[in-house]
Amino acid sequence: MRIELDKLEEKGGKFAHVYQPEELVLDEEGVRLTEAPEVAGRAKRDGHQVRLRGRITAAAEVDCDRCLTSIRVPVETEFDVTYVPATDYEEAATAELQAEDLNLSVFDGETIDIDDLTREQVLLALPMHALCREECQGLCPVCSINRNTETCGCETTEVDPRWAGLKNLRF
Ligand SMILES: [Zn+2]
Ligand SMILES: [Zn+2]
Repeated sequence: MRIELDKLEEKGGKFAHVYQPEELVLDEEGVRLTEAPEVAGRAKRDGHQVRLRGRITAAAEVDCDRCLTSIRVPVETEFDVTYVPATDYEEAATAELQAEDLNLSVFDGETIDIDDLTREQVLLALPMHALCREECQGLCPVCSINRNTETCGCETTEVDPRWAGLKNLRF
């Protein structure tokens, strides 16, 4: 879905889109959408700039850092992004000390791709590191079984990942 600047009134307007399954692909390793996103918001035009505010809901699966089991993560996130044409971007970024807080994004001055916005915002809302549970035992480094559900007799000198950070400490 796209928003075209020249069709957008100065006072702005509402936009909304319910994605079909498979319509939006996140294109990120270890992350899959399990519920297609819904996006809804308002666009407000200010000269060459467009401010988009709204909400996205979806659900995704990410891999457990240790055992690679899929973990379902509900996504409910709000966005507030100001799109500026590339020509204005540098000016805006240097003029505003809090350019980062303003969530500036660059567009071609004509159309804004809502798919890109949705993809970005969903990825931002997902955890960078996830564990299926706090005490996840991970995979055996020798035979790769899932130690949460199976046991093996492999000899491993590996330090329990929970204590890995402590092994360099001296007492
Ligand atoms: Zn796990
Ligand atoms: Zn093993």
